[in-house]
Amino acid sequence: MRQKIVAGNWKMNKTLEEAQSLTSEIMGMVADEVKGAVKVVLCVPFPYLVTIKNQLGSSATIFVGAQNASQHDSGAYTGEVSVSMIKSIDVPFIIIGHSERRQYFGEDSKLLALKVDKVLAAGLTPIFCCGEPLEIRENGTHESLVKQQVEESLFHLSPEELKKTVIAYEPVWAIGTGKTASSQQAEDMHAVIRKHLASKYGNEVAQSISILYGGSVKSDNAKELFSQPNVDGGLVGGASLKSREFVEIVKSI
Ligand code: PEP
Repeated sequence: MRQKIVAGNWKMNKTLEEAQSLTSEIMGMVADEVKGAVKVVLCVPFPYLVTIKNQLGSSATIFVGAQNASQHDSGAYTGEVSVSMIKSIDVPFIIIGHSERRQYFGEDSKLLALKVDKVLAAGLTPIFCCGEPLEIRENGTHESLVKQQVEESLFHLSPEELKKTVIAYEPVWAIGTGKTASSQQAEDMHAVIRKHLASKYGNEVAQSISILYGGSVKSDNAKELFSQPNVDGGLVGGASLKSREFVEIVKSI
């Protein structure tokens, strides 16, 4: 059984007070029935990691995550946050290679491979994002681009390292646009990614990797998306900022 995960990516939103309220609402609403069946990860802005981690306490269901980390260990990199800093505050998950990092901060596959290495070396879990922009979907080369993204940033890993990695497929044209991939489009791409992993690592390893879908996941489409055989949960942006909506998505798993 693959681990089911629903991660919320809060991006650059909320004051500390709002973040604490949202967290306590989510904690209050994540019903007993989902406990154990799914890991919920709240990927909050850096300044709130410690506070939200403490607020969650020793929850075995809800975890905190970071949205990025530096490829450098330490030193003169003003404004950056290292993986060892994130590890030192006991934050178990880090999103790596979100399309907004690729698009606005020029992060490429080679850099992301370095970041993934740092996260794994620290014993933390990378949530590695991949996905094609609209023009690539429209010209029909989306499968080869996503395979290439996965290959360039993950295929240097050992099977043991890959098994500790979570992948999120997020078509860029579906992020924050309200335009969701159909459940068939999501399933098709997840199957392509899994088959590609199997070609390098074998079926047993490929079958053990959680592949999340991201891109305008909402409470009214989550059930259908999550019911696909190769979709193991979601990475949720906008809808993770509203407690009721997010918890409904969690309950759809
Ligand atoms: C995201 O930012 O990872 C995302 C999927 O955003 P949204 O759900 O708002 O499309």
